[in-house]
Amino acid sequence: MEIATPYPEGSVNAYILLGHPITLVDTGIRRPSGVMSIRCALQEEELSLQDIEQIIVTHMHVDHSGGVAEIQREVDVPVFVHERARPFLEGGIETFQRMEAYFQTFFSACQASGVSRRKRTYQEERWKRIHYLSDGDVLSAGEAAYQVLYVPGHSQTDICLFDKRTGDAFVGDHLLRDISANAFIEPPAPNEVARPKPLIQYRSSMERTEKLPIQRVYPGHGEPYVGHMDVIHKRFAEQEKRCHDIVKVLEQGEMSVFQLSQALFPKLEGEAIFLGLSEVQGHLDLMLERNWVEEHQVDEKMWYALK
Ligand SMILES: [Zn+2]
Repeated sequence: MEIATPYPEGSVNAYILLGHPITLVDTGIRRPSGVMSIRCALQEEELSLQDIEQIIVTHMHVDHSGGVAEIQREVDVPVFVHERARPFLEGGIETFQRMEAYFQTFFSACQASGVSRRKRTYQEERWKRIHYLSDGDVLSAGEAAYQVLYVPGHSQTDICLFDKRTGDAFVGDHLLRDISANAFIEPPAPNEVARPKPLIQYRSSMERTEKLPIQRVYPGHGEPYVGHMDVIHKRFAEQEKRCHDIVKVLEQGEMSVFQLSQALFPKLEGEAIFLGLSEVQGHLDLMLERNWVEEHQVDEKMWYALK
């Protein structure tokens, strides 16, 4: 079913897997209207919220996971999510503050500290009966058994659910046909110092899913489709192009992530500026790994130049 969101991507998908256990894959946004859409879709199957036996969340982005607490207020169902979601769900205000502080540091390293970033307020996630998933787990849902693949990149909590028997795959935002999903910069995991390199992770995750005999893809946004390999090849080609675009801009001299982002995406404003910074930083991580660029730090600020 499609659920409307207030975000630029328009709508988000949630899926009901019929059979046993009746499973909801993703939940839409944290609003009563989201749960309403799920209720309506269930009604068409002559089911109600009370019939849902479990929820699986493909990743911790609010348009996918936002409805969990709302649904659990009405029905006592277990929820399955990747173990990297633990800090979001159990870390409390301290983790929230640590993450906020990390983003401040990231913005100043990008030299975008003057750019307004929406002040977020802490909102406790009141989830119940949480089961954490790891790569390789197998989950029964609907009429099938799904292999859980950890496919970080778009977020640190992305999973893909793959049914070997039919080739069906629920991929969240890992493989969208019509939009190239951002690889978001996220703070380091608890007990780690360095932040993850999301684009590099995303590419290894895609190399992994590329090899799977996936038949039909059920994405987080847009219609189900066939042809996951074409999508993956397209994403790899886009990433090459973006690296070359960054090289072209860097031919003018060394730059900050913010300057590069302004040069590549001059129209970004407000909240969307972070998307530009993430995109550029992710590609710079890859270009550093390939030895195309070098970085140096002056005070808290990072500068990038061609090698
Ligand atoms: Zn997402």
